[in-house]
Amino acid sequence: MITWLNTPFEDVIQATRNLYGDFDCEIEWDNKLKEKEGVYGLTTFLPDEKVIITLDAKTEVETQVETLGHELAHVIVGHEVEHGAEWEEVFDNIFKEYNRYCERKYSDKNQKKVTYKGCRGALEFIADIAYGYDNSKSVKALEKLIDEIRIEALRALESGEGYRI
Ligand SMILES: [Zn+2]
Repeated sequence: MITWLNTPFEDVIQATRNLYGDFDCEIEWDNKLKEKEGVYGLTTFLPDEKVIITLDAKTEVETQVETLGHELAHVIVGHEVEHGAEWEEVFDNIFKEYNRYCERKYSDKNQKKVTYKGCRGALEFIADIAYGYDNSKSVKALEKLIDEIRIEALRALESGEGYRI
């Protein structure tokens, strides 16, 4: 089996999916894009609602990955929104999520083991694999869930019902 050890293009797509769910979009390379259009990337919204992202193939990979994030932000905000606060926020989110996702994905390969302890640990583990514990929204949701479980557990213990998780 031949395997890529790092997949930056897939990772930036996954980061976008993590934040905004899945959507339809086609991505292509063009080795003359920069030469013809003077840009590293381009998002084309076609009348049939098809969306195509074009990346300049001669540009270094690192820049291409960032450009892909840039173009994916255009796909998310839609063709009527130009570069501005709304687009910027989406791009920032994708960029942050990409870094978070990659840090986790690639450091996990060198496995230093994380230990989860007790009920809280079990929930942290679920949150970790489901989305990523350092995501502020999922932490809030998780803390709320933990509180609910704690209250329910105490109630069950006090009333002698016992409690299992
Ligand atoms: Zn742009």
